Amino acid sequence: MKINKEKIDRVKGFLDEREAARLYELCLDAGKKGPCLEIGSYCGKSSVYLGTACRENATVLFSIDHHSGSEEQQPGQEYFDPDLLDKETGKVDTLRHFRKTISDFGLDDIVIPLIGRSMTIGKVWKTPLSLIFIDGSHAYEAVLNDYEIWSHHVMPGGYLLFHDIFSDPAKGGQAPYLVFQKAIVSGLYDEMPMCESLGILIRKK
Ligand code: MG
Repeated sequence: MKINKEKIDRVKGFLDEREAARLYELCLDAGKKGPCLEIGSYCGKSSVYLGTACRENATVLFSIDHHSGSEEQQPGQEYFDPDLLDKETGKVDTLRHFRKTISDFGLDDIVIPLIGRSMTIGKVWKTPLSLIFIDGSHAYEAVLNDYEIWSHHVMPGGYLLFHDIFSDPAKGGQAPYLVFQKAIVSGLYDEMPMCESLGILIRKK
C-alpha cells in the first residue's frame, strides 16, 4: 500500500490501522467492478485508503458528507474538536480539512466529494456501486436510512461495509450494530469475518 504512514497518522479520524488496511484491501478487490462510495467523509482519513485503492483500479470514490459534523461532534459533545470550528460562523466545518487531505495525497481526480445529506443524494442515485462504506451519523434512524436507501445500489458480489459495529454496549453505541444485524437477517448478503469494528457483507449474486 503506497500510503505514507506518518502523513496519514496526522489526519484526524476514528479509524483503526487494521480497519484501514482491510478497507484498502476490500476496495482493491471491489473497485475492479465499478466505483465505490463512502458515507461520512469527515476529514478524509478513510477516503485516503479507499481512494488509493480506487486509483489502482482506475475508478473513483464518491465521498458523502454535509461537513457540518455529526451529533456527537457538536460543541459540548463527546467528539467535539475545536480545530474544526469555523470562526466566522461558529459552526463545525470539516470540508476544508477534507479537501486538504485529498489534495495532500494527490487524490483530487479520484475522490469526488458529494456535499449534502446522504438521504437526499441516495434518493436520486442511479449508478451501481462495487462497495459502500456506511460511516455517517450513528443515530439509529440515520444508519437505518443509509442502509435502506443505499444498499440497493450495491452490485451483486459487491461489498456493504459498516463502521463501528459493537455487539457489547459497553464498547460503543448500538445503532450501527442493530442495522448491521438487520442486513444479515435480510438474507441478501454473505457475512465475512469482522475486522475490529468493521462489519463486512457481500451482496449475493
Ligand atoms: Mg466511524
